[in-house]
Amino acid sequence: MELTKIREYIKKNNIQPYDCTYHTQRKLGKDGKVKVLVINGEALVEYICPNCGNYEYLKKEWRKPFLVKCNKCGEMIKVQKMKYLIKKERKMEKV
Ligand SMILES: [Zn+2]
Repeated sequence: MELTKIREYIKKNNIQPYDCTYHTQRKLGKDGKVKVLVINGEALVEYICPNCGNYEYLKKEWRKPFLVKCNKCGEMIKVQKMKYLIKKERKMEKV
């Protein structure tokens, strides 16, 4: 299963990289993944739970550390190492 909602949102709203506070996709365990897009203090989250395979697309307030709870099994999905990745992404933008 692919995560497409955030990609569609970016396309529809013509979101540019500099509009985003944060944008990432991570693998979770063997089958799970999470995608996060942060704009104006609001986080758009799409995930596939690594524990039960549940898919959800939601919006929530952006805060660190960022945690999303699976609405089916209650698994806590963490998006870690924000600072490091933001630095890395900025470096990549300059190149
Ligand atoms: Zn779950």
